[in-house]
Amino acid sequence: MQIAPNAVAAFHYTLTDDQGKVVDSSEGREPLTYLHGTGQIVPGLEKQMEGRKVGDKFNADVSPEEGYGVHHDELVQEVPKEAFQGVEDIQPGMQFQGRGPQGEINVTVTKVEGNTVFIDGNHPLAGQTLHFAIEVTGVRAATAEELEHGHVHGEGGHHH
Ligand code: ZN
Repeated sequence: MQIAPNAVAAFHYTLTDDQGKVVDSSEGREPLTYLHGTGQIVPGLEKQMEGRKVGDKFNADVSPEEGYGVHHDELVQEVPKEAFQGVEDIQPGMQFQGRGPQGEINVTVTKVEGNTVFIDGNHPLAGQTLHFAIEVTGVRAATAEELEHGHVHGEGGHHH
């Protein structure tokens, strides 16, 4: 069976950035399971999963536009420390919920200088070309219930 809309697919992946650094990987974990055609994985990868079958190994390069988005300069901001009330010691790498143009966003502290905190609301991989190494480990038809819920049940999915 090939991966097509309404198929449940499982795959192992290693994601590297342009510098060849491994950013994320399913190694040592269960494969990632998703319902194909529903936007549960980045669009550029979902496109390249189409038509694959169990055992297929391939590399997929995904542009920022079809990955985690382009980098938005307006999401990089400087805010005074007072904006972080109740936070004792603000350090680079800390993440907070913030408000962006399209609702809630996660912001990451990139730098602290005196009383000024530099935050970035972009996805850490925004603006980057994603390089995936993929191995397809499972393809099956989704059940009627899974299609109704819009997500995968059982192994690698929701248990409820
Ligand atoms: Zn469900």
